Amino acid sequence: MDIGTYQKWVRDFDRERGWDLCLPAEVFVHFLEEAGEIARLVLALEGYREVTPAEAEELRPRLAEEIADAITFLIKLAYLYEVDVAGGLARNMAKCGGRYPSAEAPGAVLTYLRRHREELEQFLRQYRERFGEETE
Ligand SMILES: [Mg+2]
Repeated sequence: MDIGTYQKWVRDFDRERGWDLCLPAEVFVHFLEEAGEIARLVLALEGYREVTPAEAEELRPRLAEEIADAITFLIKLAYLYEVDVAGGLARNMAKCGGRYPSAEAPGAVLTYLRRHREELEQFLRQYRERFGEETE
């Protein structure tokens, strides 16, 4: 499905229900609510939050659902301001292609990984100073 078709469907769906009369600020807060739901699932997928095996089975399908919810609220915000999402995405593709040439990306990723490795090694040193050597 193309994004323009989805944007039109959302606008028509909302108009039939009067939901196009909601304030953009409240639509944006709903988007943030959905972003929070995505955050909880990402924390679970990363192992930061413990989940039961049954919950673990549902994490990815629920993530897909929450991402769709979040995108839908952004699309609602776009139509309330008469913003063409498909056009914006096309311009973004051109902007990103110019700003982040693929030849330079691996070096930037390596810098990013090394910085986080240094941060994690620093946290491990601090852990050992407080609690002794890790036992695992
Ligand atoms: Mg949701």
